[in-house]
Amino acid sequence: MKALMKLRPGRDGMGLQDMPIPEAGENEVVIKVAYAGICGTDLHIRSDEYEANAPVIMGHEFSGTIHQVGAGVLGYAVGDPVVSLTAVVTCGHCRYCLSGTPMLCSERKSIGSGVNGAFAQYMVVPARTLYPIPEGVSLKAAALCEPLACCVRSVSEVCRIDAGDIVLVSGPGAIGLLALQVARANGAKVYVSGTSADEPRLRLAMQLGAAGTITVNRESLAEAAEKITGGAGFDAVFECAGVAASADGCLKVVRKGGRFGQIGLFGKAIPFDLDLLLKKEVKLSAGFATTPDSWRTALRLLEAGTVDTLPIVSDIFPLESWETAFDKMEHKMGLKILFSLSQQN
Ligand SMILES: [Zn+2]
Ligand SMILES: [Zn+2]
Repeated sequence: MKALMKLRPGRDGMGLQDMPIPEAGENEVVIKVAYAGICGTDLHIRSDEYEANAPVIMGHEFSGTIHQVGAGVLGYAVGDPVVSLTAVVTCGHCRYCLSGTPMLCSERKSIGSGVNGAFAQYMVVPARTLYPIPEGVSLKAAALCEPLACCVRSVSEVCRIDAGDIVLVSGPGAIGLLALQVARANGAKVYVSGTSADEPRLRLAMQLGAAGTITVNRESLAEAAEKITGGAGFDAVFECAGVAASADGCLKVVRKGGRFGQIGLFGKAIPFDLDLLLKKEVKLSAGFATTPDSWRTALRLLEAGTVDTLPIVSDIFPLESWETAFDKMEHKMGLKILFSLSQQN
């Protein structure tokens, strides 16, 4: 099978390789991948800004159907539509593994960076990390379950958005548009900010339920925040762009005692005004990756139709066109770009 791999360090260290179709060991399944999304993390892996255990098949956002069931696996059969938690290798006995936060385990290896991932026709995962895709949720919609679960982790589990909160989401990329929908599901009134280059994305934010948008290079974020919140500032802000100016803007417009949720990945250290954080008593929170609970919630939100992932899918490419797909993503053209790995809907 063809697989898109990080083969060695360096921006030219990615490429398609022929790999053997994996076999399911005990308590494992082989998944026939339907769709796999390119994530900001994959761009960081391409640029050596996020660690990868090269040579490794990339891709951690995916959906698929079970192709082979290994010995000892109960409750799953060939053909079942599934997604999987990304932290597939963990020690199983540290305080993080035992408290439902396996992504913090020091021995964690995630698919697509630590172990072989979803940018291939087939992949193998342990059965214990699987989640069945609910009826009525398409494989295409479920391919965004991982980034959605990341947003559930940050917005619902760590930052705990409440009904009535006025929230700013900075950065209307795929993560921002999912964070918007999760915050709305929790009862918040959500505004989304971006630059004029983001205008189509800001329009989509309105379709997906934003109360308003702010174009930061056309209008003052501070003035817009003042108008929206009657001078108080936002109850919570989510930095979803992974850009220093966006983090700075968020910190300036969050209210005293408000919450700052970091979701975007910068790929480097950035200047951040901790004096301002201190003086405003802002609570800084970060959700890294996903918990088993956040996957359950994400799948329920998809099943109920509370979150719509399909409008966020902008392009679908075959794996062979990976360079076009990655270039498009790096130039912020399109939103969530998926690879189609097999002919399924
Ligand atoms: Zn991702
Ligand atoms: Zn552990």
